[in-house]
Amino acid sequence: MLPVIMYHHVNSDDLPLSNSDVMMKAHLELISERYTTIFPGETITNRSICLTFDDAYYDFYYYIFPLLKQYNLKALLAVPCAFILDHTDIDSQQRLSLKHEDIYKNYNDFAPFCTFKELREMVQSGHVMIASHSMNHVNLIDEGIDLEKEIFSSKVMLEEKIGCRVDSFVLPYGKYNDAAVELAREHYSYVFRIGNALNPSWDGIGGLIYRIKGDGLKRPCSLFNPLSQFVFWCKTMVKWAKS
Ligand SMILES: [Zn+2]
Repeated sequence: MLPVIMYHHVNSDDLPLSNSDVMMKAHLELISERYTTIFPGETITNRSICLTFDDAYYDFYYYIFPLLKQYNLKALLAVPCAFILDHTDIDSQQRLSLKHEDIYKNYNDFAPFCTFKELREMVQSGHVMIASHSMNHVNLIDEGIDLEKEIFSSKVMLEEKIGCRVDSFVLPYGKYNDAAVELAREHYSYVFRIGNALNPSWDGIGGLIYRIKGDGLKRPCSLFNPLSQFVFWCKTMVKWAKS
């Protein structure tokens, strides 16, 4: 069974969607001792784990990317294309200073997301793989959403700007309907949702790869204690039975 973990921020004021840099360092160190991190499609063993970070906030580049290099780990980064600037001269502390609720409206003035230049650097390091997280980070089941643009044009844009293949799509807010999933599976080999379950293979369950919430960790080993593992295993069995 493959655990896929989902994180968002580091040191953000939005606590349910964040961990401290100290917690992430201890957590990733522990992962490096117990597991082998893999990218989508790589061979799964009983030591495998896949780490995913949503939204490509600048705090990923600032805090997480150095840790990935330090502990020799891999992570999938889900990028909402429309908010990504080519490059920026804005100072790091300013880029990290926004409250979570202000990030999307001020993306042009404060560059609170990774830039394309930073995304290219991270991909070239071999420690980061890019997933599309739609064009505008919208709820795909909202009325009037252009699914083709959100799901397919975002892939084309990322591949052009970063110069890599993009085979993974992470559903924004974990929301979807049949049309969105069908289109995503047409253009991507790996489609990720939320749900705190494990995955028997890279096909996930019912064609969607489940992710475990890694934000708001109480302790570095919170996700790996026997009780948590039991809960994830039970959820997996329920989802599998329903699929
Ligand atoms: Zn998101």
